[in-house]
Amino acid sequence: MRIGFFDGVREIGGNKILIEENGTGIIFDFGKRFSINNTYFNEYLVGRDWKGVNDYVAMDELPPFKNFYRGKLPLVKEPIDVDIKAVFFSHAHLDHIGLIDFIDDSIDKYMSNYSKEVLSFFIERGIIKRNISNVKIIESPVQIGPFTVSPILIDHDIPGAMAFKIDTGEGTLFYTGDIYFHGRFSERSFSFVEQAKNAHPYILITEGTRFGWGFVTSLTEEQLKEQIINVLEQCGGILFANPYEPHISRIQTFFEVANEKKRNFVVTLPYAFILKHYSDLGDTFAKDILSSAHTFVYKPGRELKDWEKAFDSKFVDAEYVSKNQKNIVMLLDFLSTPELIDIKPERGALYVHSGGEPLAGLDKDNMDILSNWLNLFNIPYFRIHSPGHAAQPDLLRMAKEINPEILLPIHTQIPERFEIVSNNVKILERGIMYDF
Ligand SMILES: [Zn+2]
Ligand SMILES: [Zn+2]
Repeated sequence: MRIGFFDGVREIGGNKILIEENGTGIIFDFGKRFSINNTYFNEYLVGRDWKGVNDYVAMDELPPFKNFYRGKLPLVKEPIDVDIKAVFFSHAHLDHIGLIDFIDDSIDKYMSNYSKEVLSFFIERGIIKRNISNVKIIESPVQIGPFTVSPILIDHDIPGAMAFKIDTGEGTLFYTGDIYFHGRFSERSFSFVEQAKNAHPYILITEGTRFGWGFVTSLTEEQLKEQIINVLEQCGGILFANPYEPHISRIQTFFEVANEKKRNFVVTLPYAFILKHYSDLGDTFAKDILSSAHTFVYKPGRELKDWEKAFDSKFVDAEYVSKNQKNIVMLLDFLSTPELIDIKPERGALYVHSGGEPLAGLDKDNMDILSNWLNLFNIPYFRIHSPGHAAQPDLLRMAKEINPEILLPIHTQIPERFEIVSNNVKILERGIMYDF
């Protein structure tokens, strides 16, 4: 068996993992690297469309996988000669799913039902550029050639996140995806660790995002709620909140703040899209929020699309929000920031940034723009957030407990940190097919 890691090596995000046995391959995640890792291309300078993916392959920004990319054009480079049958997506963050539109339509793409809805959100927002074919929901083990892939639900800061168990001819592998131990669904992550430990795995491929981050602990949603209520009580005006749109647990936290403070809950359309789609899957949090008599959808002045018109009975406009500021908690996504002009925030307004774009530390330009807006309106900015990744002690505990024969760290800047608890760590290099 061979395994290759293309991005996500000594960096956070961009995971692309190829596992091959007897010429048959499966891939885990096909993510975009964060923009700080851009070398030759960015959102402005992109590969020439008529070359397919070949500009990216030529510049070593995409691996030369044979018959894998859309249109199956011949590659400019000697291809990796593996017959890739399927791609499995651990969750729908862009650093794991963001390059899905480069993959040929004929290839099966497995993901959770939630990830599929988030994918439709990215397509609606134009973040992923085209519709994706052959998306399959994975809920039970799938057999692909010599591999049996079993999904295991875990906790992360997006719903429907999964780890995978992969049975191969050489032994059992586990891949954590991105994992978290302090959220609303963290019993799933603990039970994943238990399952992996009991399987005495050959290989564990694990994330290590927070190695090197200065703080040790994570805050629970309950603790975040307390902090939010504390600043809200001091300021007293309208609370603008900016959580990441697909992060339903965090949306729920702001909804609870609104309920406890007897305020109405107003959301912009991107949040309404997510709430509607999760609700259609049967998500009880999303259903409760959307069906509450105190939840409203903010209607922009522009012409509405068909799906947006479905919120007709819930719409409130800028004038309503402006007149009822002290009675409102409003989810305001970053791209809707100019609505502040019409809302005319009064004294006491506050802004809580909680994981939504721009990503603090990764997107300085947009952080500056946001802060200019808030300063102009004299709105204090509070970052009240807890990342959806295992804290450093949790990572060490997980690695120690699972105790694989070989530990492969990815999605981390400091893979060596696992050596504190394991003698079996292999430090990877990007783009090499390793024999196991
Ligand atoms: Zn990630
Ligand atoms: Zn993630």
